[in-house]
Amino acid sequence: MIMSTMLHRATAFAALLLSAFYLALPATAADLSPEKIEKVLAEAHKAFKGVKDGANADYIPALDEVDPELFGISLVTPDGRVYNVGDSKYTFSIQSISKAFIAARVIQDQGTEAMLEQIGVDATGQPFNSIEAIESIEERSVNPLVNAGAMAAVSMIKADSPEEKWAQIQGTLESFAGRELTVMDDIYASEAATNDRNQAIAKLLDAYGRLYDDVPVTVDLYTRQCSVGVTSHDLAVMAGTLAAGGRNPVTGDQVIDEDKVPEVLAVMATAGLYDDSGIWLYNVGLPAKSGVGGGIVAVAPGEYGIAAFSPRLDAAGNSVRAQLAIEYVVENLGGNVFE
Ligand code: GLN
Repeated sequence: MIMSTMLHRATAFAALLLSAFYLALPATAADLSPEKIEKVLAEAHKAFKGVKDGANADYIPALDEVDPELFGISLVTPDGRVYNVGDSKYTFSIQSISKAFIAARVIQDQGTEAMLEQIGVDATGQPFNSIEAIESIEERSVNPLVNAGAMAAVSMIKADSPEEKWAQIQGTLESFAGRELTVMDDIYASEAATNDRNQAIAKLLDAYGRLYDDVPVTVDLYTRQCSVGVTSHDLAVMAGTLAAGGRNPVTGDQVIDEDKVPEVLAVMATAGLYDDSGIWLYNVGLPAKSGVGGGIVAVAPGEYGIAAFSPRLDAAGNSVRAQLAIEYVVENLGGNVFE
């Protein structure tokens, strides 16, 4: 009798342990032990640091002056562990990666419908600064991750003055990063002096009634937003916040509501790497966002946020090494949302 009770208890205990083990693991669980993460990040850095393909963006002159050999990779888990390899402390301009987080701000403050109706969430299949996409697609701005939709998103932020609007933009990026961020003045000046195309895009959107604030103010705020300095460490925390259901894993702050996160990730999956978003999703299986400064963030929901940085870009404007590094990490740690 005593024996059988003990046996019963032991079996029940084993079953409990087993189910706790399985419950703790999502279906596509990545192996996120510190040793494994460190090993995979180091391997990715070593494997791709010799890749010389692509070239720095040069349509913003200051970006062409950044050392093309810089290469950093960072990963953050929802429980706040941070892993870095390479040049993870180097500050570069966030550029278009900011668009995903400002889109999150607009979805959070103004709701799903406002994003759908005033901007849209479809792919353009065109380069990020396409004017043709505005002309040929009836809705004009199509998603907040290309320049047209990103400037529309900036124009939608509700504020009484440009300064107040800037405070919201900067504050949003800072809350995702978990620290104070500043504009890189040289990048800002360089882009402000050469952003005629973005001025044209904003003016055209305005003519179609798809820009919701003053044109020069919007272009200026957007240019400043793109010039905010970040490290790959910062970007991984930002991606990690989306991976952790909108809660910054380092500060613990709930930055956006958990139920808004899937919408942000859906837009990233659709348009995060511009006209190469499809091939990226096919190869890597993670929502992501790139910037012409050389950074890319990707989000494995519930598992990790990852960022990589290296300035040389491919024809679509996406960092060559950052793409290779993130693809390698996903293949070796797991996390592909379709697996
Ligand atoms: N500031 C850049 C621009 O508007 C951002 C583009 C990008 O990162 N793809 O051209």
